[in-house]
Amino acid sequence: MSPELSQLLSLQETDIEIKRIGEEIASLPARQEIIERQFAESAKEHLGLKKAYEDALAERSRLESELSAEQVKLEKFKADLMKARNEKEYSTAVREIDVAKKAITAFENELLKMMERVEKLATDFQVKSPELEAHRREVDRQLDEISNSVLASRRRLEELRLERARLHTTLGTSARAIYDRVSRLRGGVVLAEARDYSCLACRMKIRPQVYYDIRQGNTIITCESCGRVLFYRVVAEG
Ligand SMILES: [Zn+2]
Repeated sequence: MSPELSQLLSLQETDIEIKRIGEEIASLPARQEIIERQFAESAKEHLGLKKAYEDALAERSRLESELSAEQVKLEKFKADLMKARNEKEYSTAVREIDVAKKAITAFENELLKMMERVEKLATDFQVKSPELEAHRREVDRQLDEISNSVLASRRRLEELRLERARLHTTLGTSARAIYDRVSRLRGGVVLAEARDYSCLACRMKIRPQVYYDIRQGNTIITCESCGRVLFYRVVAEG
């Protein structure tokens, strides 16, 4: 293969790699966003658990103060009973004591249930907190990894662009013109492999004499159909 043809191939490979890395860099912000969104979902669940726990704590202290208010009332009614001066005062106090006792039992039952709920939520919250912290550390690690890979890709891209400029400017005028024109027309894919008397890019048949010249690789030969520069890849017979 002539040096010029192999330089065209290198230029082609460099351009393809520049395009690939450019697309890779462009795709990374979306990946970062997905990772952050997934974390926000688990954090939301965690916040919901925290809220439920705080609500249960508030409800528990409300029940506690209701209960003690009821106990105060009960003591007062008991005192009323002791001081009762007639049948009417006596029966009123007995009835009020009965009502207060029932209320106290109801509050005690509710309080017991609420204490169990508080305990369960506290356990869940304690279990989930380290999980969430571990998840955050993992998220940070992944984001760091992506940032590092962006930096590495940018550096690689700079190298490739320098290499591309070098290959492009040192090409012969005619080869460079062909490369630029076909690249524009064919979305950056300038070279096509010739194999079995065909252009592998567009499947056009190649005449035997032309195919022979391509195999020699001494001149730049373009496909009559798609215009790409044809090259022959020497493969080990197997
Ligand atoms: Zn072709």
